[in-house]
Amino acid sequence: MKRIGDVMQHISIPIARGPVASEPKAPDCAICQDAGFVRGDFPVGHPKFGSIFPCECRVRERAERQREQLSSLTNLDAFQDKTLDRFDPTVPGVVKAYQEALDFVESPTRWLFLHGGCGVGKTHLAAGIAIEVFRREPRWTVIFQVVPDLLDHLRATFDPSAGSGYDDRFNAFRNANLLVLDDLGTENTTPWAREKLYQLFNHRYNQRLATVVTSNQDLRHIEERVRSRLLDRELTRYIEIDADDFRTPHLPRQISPRRR
Ligand SMILES: [Zn+2]
Repeated sequence: MKRIGDVMQHISIPIARGPVASEPKAPDCAICQDAGFVRGDFPVGHPKFGSIFPCECRVRERAERQREQLSSLTNLDAFQDKTLDRFDPTVPGVVKAYQEALDFVESPTRWLFLHGGCGVGKTHLAAGIAIEVFRREPRWTVIFQVVPDLLDHLRATFDPSAGSGYDDRFNAFRNANLLVLDDLGTENTTPWAREKLYQLFNHRYNQRLATVVTSNQDLRHIEERVRSRLLDRELTRYIEIDADDFRTPHLPRQISPRRR
């Protein structure tokens, strides 16, 4: 049997050498030394004396996390090929809508309402706008959403007793820098869905947040409060796409926005 001293002589313990191991790592954040919070600079007796606040590094981190979560809401994965430069503007009846889409991405500050039948390229243009704006404004929250799916999302997370997930999601839709809503008017119009859609439209209307909407529905079937915002000519560019396969009946003249 070996004595412990003999054994020890033959064991070499690797020792890491170099500056990494021998010097303490410099903190990532020079403001809070990675503590994540800072103390407010208030005098004794001030109600906020001694209180702590999240450091700007944490605020930044949180915003970044929220952005990552939101990018899962962007919903453009299935539409990656629907870019504006792959849109064929030579199809009869679509050139005006295409031009409007190009104008919109130059200055995404208003509303664009693309109205027309199935198969006229509305979804392609709407997705193309979302992709292009997201490419140009990488810090923006851009959400592309088919309206019936939007309401399904909201319903799935809606829980009146503990509604924070729902609120976050609804607020994401309400406040996105650009919200693209495809296929308005095909959702099941329960009173709840109507109210949610109205709240969404009304908030974005009041805040003048860039919004693109497509619909193939007769405008009479879109709820009046939503329709009146959609057809406000101060804010919205309304484009009727008259491609060959236009199938739904035209808007009756008395509520046509062209004739108001
Ligand atoms: Zn910090």
